[in-house]
Amino acid sequence: MTVSVANSMNDLIALCKRRGFIFPSSEIYGGLQGLYDYGPLGVELKNNLKNAWWRSMVYERDDVEGLDSCILTNKLTLRHSGHEATFTDPLVDCRDCKSRWRADHVNGKCQKCGSTNLTDPRPFNMMFKTTVGPVVDEESYAYLRPETAQGIFTNFKNVLDSTSRKLPFGIAQIGKAFRNEITPRNFIFRVREFEQMELEFFVEPGTDMEWHETWVETRMNWWKEQGLSSDNLQVLHQKPEDLSHYSKATVDILYRFPHGLEELEGIADRTDYDLGSHSKNPEDMGLSAHVSPNIDSTEKLSIRDAVSNKAVVPFVIEPSAGVDRGVLAVLTEAFTKETLENGSERIVLKLKPHLSPIKVAVIPLAKNNPAIVEKALQIKKDLQKLGLGRILFENTGNVGKGYRRHDEIGTPICATVDFESIEQTPASVTIRNRDTTAQERIEVSNLVNYVRDFYQTQS
Ligand code: ATP
Repeated sequence: MTVSVANSMNDLIALCKRRGFIFPSSEIYGGLQGLYDYGPLGVELKNNLKNAWWRSMVYERDDVEGLDSCILTNKLTLRHSGHEATFTDPLVDCRDCKSRWRADHVNGKCQKCGSTNLTDPRPFNMMFKTTVGPVVDEESYAYLRPETAQGIFTNFKNVLDSTSRKLPFGIAQIGKAFRNEITPRNFIFRVREFEQMELEFFVEPGTDMEWHETWVETRMNWWKEQGLSSDNLQVLHQKPEDLSHYSKATVDILYRFPHGLEELEGIADRTDYDLGSHSKNPEDMGLSAHVSPNIDSTEKLSIRDAVSNKAVVPFVIEPSAGVDRGVLAVLTEAFTKETLENGSERIVLKLKPHLSPIKVAVIPLAKNNPAIVEKALQIKKDLQKLGLGRILFENTGNVGKGYRRHDEIGTPICATVDFESIEQTPASVTIRNRDTTAQERIEVSNLVNYVRDFYQTQS
């Protein structure tokens, strides 16, 4: 048997469309560039990845709270955060064919017509603006958030007051973010609407560098638990000239996507920049060196130090991961083409079982046999109660085809219900394993335990 992995984005795009993971958005109207919709399997995969993150960031720790803040954001939040002034990419125009490019993506040459007759780069703000309420005037605008982080900072005091947290502690959030990317590309890698999984971890000033290192290691390990191999992961310390306006140091976790080694997650030391910037009169708190006066806020975003009883503005470490880039990475890693001994080809998505969109496919051997169908439906119902995720009743009547389909979408286990399942005592089903293709018979009365044990030991 020979094995090859996804070496072209086209393999993945084709699989995603064919099997219902990801579709171009508004496709029947010609699409809208940089926007994708998640189909029946994509939504399961994406939810499983987000749940794994939430579990490890919130439930398995004792120092993190969750939050779900609004997408529409007060313009003052994004003015004082620095995004109105500095959240820009360098834009160049091709004077010959009139197309527009991100300057650092084109190497001085138009990607469409090859001309070098480009304008000088000028800053292009990537935030989407919209109006709020029935009156449209100069002042009625708001933004779609470009990162989920600002909702965490503006709720810092609410969370603190309602939970009595002490440093260090974090606030986690998963949600949509919007960026008007100049050149969206590489499938779901660079899009205009995406999801982020962000943690803002508040620490004592002076302990931030140590925490930064800890979080880089924690996050690398988590990506490995999602099935990404060490060979395809790399850590990059950003050069000082590349840092965002709020960052003292940023480490990127890079993944070897089909189009190259690129950022999957960024882990930034945002210092006291954000809490300071959103505080009323930050200069009163000794922060005038790097934040501007704020006459709009009503709060000072600080925490009382238990020992000195002084107000401290915490430093913040931010692991910020893209959900869509995460989905692309786990799909890239899992995609496998095997050439079997008989010369036929098998495509298998070797996803970690906890990420698989379908946990078990229950397949009746004969789709027109009412007793077999009824038994299969009962088994599906019983397995569904385990709460593992989606159990699929797959009534296509062709077991071989069913196995192939479930290999391609990464279903770890198929359970085939046949005549022995209804006629013999004890009743049994055939269990087929995705990775080994091995089959074994399991008594129906043991099936729930078998599946539970499988997921407990595999995930
Ligand atoms: P890039 O340099 O690739 O534009 P960035 O450094 O601007 O990304 P951050 O602001 O650090 O990205 O955002 C945190 C995470 O959000 C990124 O690591 C990435 O996973 C995700 N992300 C950012 N922009 C996009 C996008 N346009 N499409 C999909 N995911 C994105």
